[in-house]
Amino acid sequence: MKITILGVRGSIPTDGPEFCEYGGATACILVEADGQAIYLDAGSGLLRAPNTGSAEVSILLSHSHMDHILGLPLSPVLLSDKTLDLYLQEREGLSAREQLERLMAPPLWPVGVEKYPSEVIFHDLKLPMQIGGVQVSGMESNHPGGSTIYRLDFEGRSLVYATDYEHTEEKQKELAAFAHDTDLLLYDAQYTEEEYARMKGFGHSTVAEGLKVLEQSGAKRIMFVHHDPRHSDAKLREMENALTEPRASFAKAGEVFEI
Ligand SMILES: [Zn+2]
Ligand SMILES: [Zn+2]
Repeated sequence: MKITILGVRGSIPTDGPEFCEYGGATACILVEADGQAIYLDAGSGLLRAPNTGSAEVSILLSHSHMDHILGLPLSPVLLSDKTLDLYLQEREGLSAREQLERLMAPPLWPVGVEKYPSEVIFHDLKLPMQIGGVQVSGMESNHPGGSTIYRLDFEGRSLVYATDYEHTEEKQKELAAFAHDTDLLLYDAQYTEEEYARMKGFGHSTVAEGLKVLEQSGAKRIMFVHHDPRHSDAKLREMENALTEPRASFAKAGEVFEI
């Protein structure tokens, strides 16, 4: 599986020289496997979607908070002539299409998806499912309004994408079991411990809680994502340098690697 980190900023995009190293674009990770291009979330990182040459393009949305769908309206995938399968869990009585049309319709956006050259097929998420040879499974996160944690498995390799996730004792156990022996765990560590004390209930977690899941799951590697928009490169570097766990790092936009 080839992984391309396109955006790992949380909540709102950031801009400026102090955000160049980890990147200011919001949630978007590209996974390529079995001839498929699968995007995890469609934050502003999706604007940098490379031409994968893949005929099959899918987007798995964790949820429809702005930072996870913001890249969609001007993304290369929507402006291409490809067919795009877009998956999103029904929430609050709204289908995938209805949730996305809240962003991509007047008065928030000039045109609807039907005006784009690509053909968008909306799917109300039903898991588990297959995308080509890639097995997709999920668990419900702990996040205001709900969010889906995904696991992708292909030919003995796997990754778990746990963003917009706030730890509880019970959820940590569930996530550790869900991420059992995974090759890569992408984990929401938006807050420092001091910040978390003030932001409890906002739906995000910390490095220390991520490291607990790493231990309990037997995951081979953890990358922290959903960086707080107030954390500059200097702050993130300081947090990353404080890690003593060799399997842990802070994700940076632009990283490309295989698992
Ligand atoms: Zn978010
Ligand atoms: Zn959210």
